[in-house]
Amino acid sequence: TDIVIREGDMISIDGTTGIVVLGAVDLVMPELTGDLDTILEWADEFRTLGVRANADNPEDAELSRDFGAEGIGLCRTEHMFLGDRKQIIQTFILNDDELIREKAVADLYEAQVGDFYGMFKAMDGLPVIVRLLDPPLHEFLESPRELDVEIAKLEAAGAPSDAIAEKRALLEKIDGFAEQNPMLGMRGCRLGIVYPILPEMQVRAIATACARLQKEGFAPKPEIMIPLVSVLPELAKLRSVAEAVIAEVAAAEGVELSIPVGTMIELPRAAVTANEIATEADFFSFGTNDLTQTTFGFSRDDVEGEFVPQYLNEHLLPYNPFATIDPGVAKLVEMGVELGHEGNPEIVCGVCGEHGGDPESIHTFNRIGLNYVSCSPYRVPVARLAAAQAAIKQR
Ligand code: PEP
Ligand code: MG
Repeated sequence: TDIVIREGDMISIDGTTGIVVLGAVDLVMPELTGDLDTILEWADEFRTLGVRANADNPEDAELSRDFGAEGIGLCRTEHMFLGDRKQIIQTFILNDDELIREKAVADLYEAQVGDFYGMFKAMDGLPVIVRLLDPPLHEFLESPRELDVEIAKLEAAGAPSDAIAEKRALLEKIDGFAEQNPMLGMRGCRLGIVYPILPEMQVRAIATACARLQKEGFAPKPEIMIPLVSVLPELAKLRSVAEAVIAEVAAAEGVELSIPVGTMIELPRAAVTANEIATEADFFSFGTNDLTQTTFGFSRDDVEGEFVPQYLNEHLLPYNPFATIDPGVAKLVEMGVELGHEGNPEIVCGVCGEHGGDPESIHTFNRIGLNYVSCSPYRVPVARLAAAQAAIKQR
């Protein structure tokens, strides 16, 4: 019989076989079992490269742990600022009143303690690298275009003028945060330097969650990561902020806290001066998404939909450099690892860009001598396998 499916009807697709089923089928979480599990256990005996996951909530952390991740290589804390938290960060950004801003930060602190408590507990005994806030602040704000439309509608409907004036003032404020090149603007460690209250709050929340878990008998292992550093003093400044807060929390909670502080290497300047930067870093995590963007001068948010497809067709590029690590970018990673060890022989080096879950890139990272790769939870199994294949090939 011919089955007619209309817009809005529910269907299910088996992603492996392509079978289409009418209606919703019961789903189960994927598990590593049987032969696959055995093969991955064999792989673990051979690989020397660690495999961690990028996760920012306890569910993903647990999932990645089930898939064999040996820690969290990147917890993007901005993902914890969405949903009902967005309103709070907006209050912080858009208000000039110091008391209102402080109250917003206090609310964020309460929420973050809970977030980190859940993450560290899910990864008990394993490292969790928490990255301090990274994106441009306007990403948390309403879209000025939508606001513009809203104002036009209010005007057309003859809304009271003070309501319109309020929206206009908000629009002006939001416009004030607009940047020509936001990815090269007020983001990463620059945010923490301009608004020190934010890193202080985040570090306090990390240290407090860690202290609470320690007192409950758990073994939390948080690490603090400072993003988008280009010069040593940026890292030195934020590191000292972090260390002061950690010491304060340790004294207040009556526990000993040992929380490493490291940085992301995602800018060419950081990679070529890694010997200096390493003097203030316990670890490096190569953010190869931004490092690819800044090495090529390709906007990662745009070019994949613009000219990269044509470049691939015309063989101007052998592959998408945001998916598989480019040799030029890999050279910067290699330089960063070598120089990093000059500045700090004990430095731990990993990668947390999308490339961390790409088998071909994993071969390159293995050759360069990174300590681990970190990728999305679902790519952890393939990363374990690729790391073993790379180790065997390199022998
Ligand atoms: C990176 O730049 O590689 C990275 C992991 O950070 P994000 O993707 O969040 O910019
Ligand atoms: Mg980045």
